[in-house]
Amino acid sequence: MGKYLFSPFERKIGKVSREVWVKMLQIAREMDLNKGGIYDARLMAINIWSAPEDKPSDYTFEITKGCLNYPRNFLASIYGEFTEDGGVELYMELYNPARRGHAKRLFEEGKISYEEYKRMLELSEKGTEAEWDWALAKAKWLIETAERESVFKEIVYCPYCGQEFTELKLFNEFILHLATHVNIKSVTLGEDGIYIETEKHTLTPEDYIKTKKGE
Ligand SMILES: [Zn+2]
Repeated sequence: MGKYLFSPFERKIGKVSREVWVKMLQIAREMDLNKGGIYDARLMAINIWSAPEDKPSDYTFEITKGCLNYPRNFLASIYGEFTEDGGVELYMELYNPARRGHAKRLFEEGKISYEEYKRMLELSEKGTEAEWDWALAKAKWLIETAERESVFKEIVYCPYCGQEFTELKLFNEFILHLATHVNIKSVTLGEDGIYIETEKHTLTPEDYIKTKKGE
């Protein structure tokens, strides 16, 4: 069966930056299955669950609520594996417990042979093409959304000389820097951010924040 990391049936589905991986975990948490989504994020894994309204085209098993907030059946996991170059390789594994339970019932009721039972158990770990298509589409959406969201960063910059302050904790430094250009009368928190009143005019967040493409 060769070398594998998580499952003999795993597929390597891509590679992303660590920043994108962190964003993927964050999106998966925001779209958690107990909030009506179909994901749940673990330390280095994202699980994907099928829902009655969102499932593989060949999925005929009953999807129940169990102890969850919404009816969901487990189906796939994305695993992240850190690489030495600072990236994260993504692997996907399928596991269909509903197919496994269905096979067990059929076998116990004498409706299928032992060979058929073993074949169905293997299929529950191997996944069908429709299951893969569906799970891969969910992973693709996560990756693309995370990439889009991590591309643009908000950067604080000096409207007088253009110097950039890339970390928010440097905001105090930014104010001190502004003071080398103008006299600052007050710094106040408004509805949409911090307003900086100078002797000449008031700087609003629009005046000193820009979105910029990250590396
Ligand atoms: Zn400046």
